[in-house]
Amino acid sequence: MADAMDLVQERAEEMRQRNLANVLNKKKLPSRSFCVNCDTPIPELRRRTLIGVELCVHCQQITEAQSKHFKGKV
Ligand SMILES: [Zn+2]
Repeated sequence: MADAMDLVQERAEEMRQRNLANVLNKKKLPSRSFCVNCDTPIPELRRRTLIGVELCVHCQQITEAQSKHFKGKV
């Protein structure tokens, strides 16, 4: 009965680990077929242009806006 909860927790943990890995180690990861944030398919051209891309254009813009915000604070 706890399957759904486990899955959610597993996914949250996975995303946390991935985010941590990204922060610590910005190495070239394989580009993803789907946005890690919203599961939107990432266009082939974008995947080839941006090696290791994990976000769709929309989420990338949000992330960039947020990181600018954080940089301003730090
Ligand atoms: Zn997205």
